[in-house]
Amino acid sequence: MIWNPEYECMERAALQELQLRRLQMTTSWAYERSVYYRARMDEAGVRPRDVRSLDDVRRLPLTDESALRQTSPFGMFALPLDEVVRVHSSSGATGEPVVVGYSRGDINTWTELTARVAAAAGVKPGDLVQMAFPYGMSTGGWGLHYGIERIGATIIPAGAGRTERHLSMMQDFGTTVLVSTPSYALFLAGEGEVAGVDVPSLKLRLGLFGGEPCSDKMKAEIEAKLGLRATDNYGLSEVMGPGVAGECECACGLHVNEDHLLLEVVDPATAEPLAYGQEGELVITTLTKEALPVLRYRTHDLTALDPAPCACGRTLVRMSKVRRRTDDMLIVRGVNVFPAQIEAVLAQIEGARPHYLIVIDRKQNADDLEVRLEVEESVMTDVMPDMLAFQNSVADKLQSALGLRASVTLVESGAIERAAGMAERTAGGAAAHTAGGEPERTSGGTVKRVLDLRDQG
Ligand SMILES: [Zn+2]
Repeated sequence: MIWNPEYECMERAALQELQLRRLQMTTSWAYERSVYYRARMDEAGVRPRDVRSLDDVRRLPLTDESALRQTSPFGMFALPLDEVVRVHSSSGATGEPVVVGYSRGDINTWTELTARVAAAAGVKPGDLVQMAFPYGMSTGGWGLHYGIERIGATIIPAGAGRTERHLSMMQDFGTTVLVSTPSYALFLAGEGEVAGVDVPSLKLRLGLFGGEPCSDKMKAEIEAKLGLRATDNYGLSEVMGPGVAGECECACGLHVNEDHLLLEVVDPATAEPLAYGQEGELVITTLTKEALPVLRYRTHDLTALDPAPCACGRTLVRMSKVRRRTDDMLIVRGVNVFPAQIEAVLAQIEGARPHYLIVIDRKQNADDLEVRLEVEESVMTDVMPDMLAFQNSVADKLQSALGLRASVTLVESGAIERAAGMAERTAGGAAAHTAGGEPERTSGGTVKRVLDLRDQG
């Protein structure tokens, strides 16, 4: 089902005209109402009237998460708080939350765009849609919630966690659609098997998955285990939340809601524009947001755009699935983990050496996070209780920083290979990625990550 054919199937020339008109409006809106954007545009010597074509978007300054963080909570807003009807926050790429806001109009647009994404995936009135994204400050649960309601499907706002309850509701209600991260879908299938649930006989027929990369292998495994068709959708809180793009039934990339968002793909190193089909960093400009317009937001997600007509009839450009990021985030059991957070904890620990290794492995369909830590000789005593106490105290400190239990392994000084930023893949299944020049995020192997904490030469 195409939710809004007028816009989703618009002729591209007319669409680009609409985009230009909206880009000009957004640029003026941001310049006139946001102290932050006015300062940045003055610095760059560019005025709203300089935007005469869509290519002129490149004259505008780039924005990134650090801008949102520095002006947090409300410094980038272009509306006073009495016109902001909701705020959310995102963990951002460094783990420090950034706050985003929505006007009444923004919420309405967001609902329209998530309705489009859900409809493109195949959600219909009559579907029972079980939400397994968290409700709370993150945009995951709320975003698709309203879009699914708007379509006329029945939403089951179960939220994240409580797997047993998810399974029993799926059985009792006859849930037809699951909305979650791909790794949670697999975890759910595994837990169901353990609990003696006949998972393939559940009524699930469709999955809307997002929030983390999903390999083809993982997708096939989810489809086989849960007996559903898996679809991918994309969004990020800093721009809006879910609703930026989603797969249609052709499963040939994610249609981007271009009437509300202008996308560029740039070389991550130079920020120079790349042609259609070339993979680079996705940069997004919102075209209709009122409370928090974002101009040229660097997403750190790597993708390529394809404007070729799609068999579904939509004319909206398709972005390839995001499988890699330019930054450093690891996703472990659906929780964003940043090596910088781990590093900060370890740096405080007396007896820890400046070398550690993060190993993420998949055990029983759940990511297992292990931190191998080099310690001073004084810590490696023969007194077992002392070592265990040390190990536990490191694990406790990590847990309070990450919100996630990691297993801690202590190793002798020099035991961790010195290869900063190098990734090494071994057998198994995990989601992770590497530091340095060649970041890669995948669901197809264990990634070991070696870092020099405080390089002492
Ligand atoms: Zn399509």
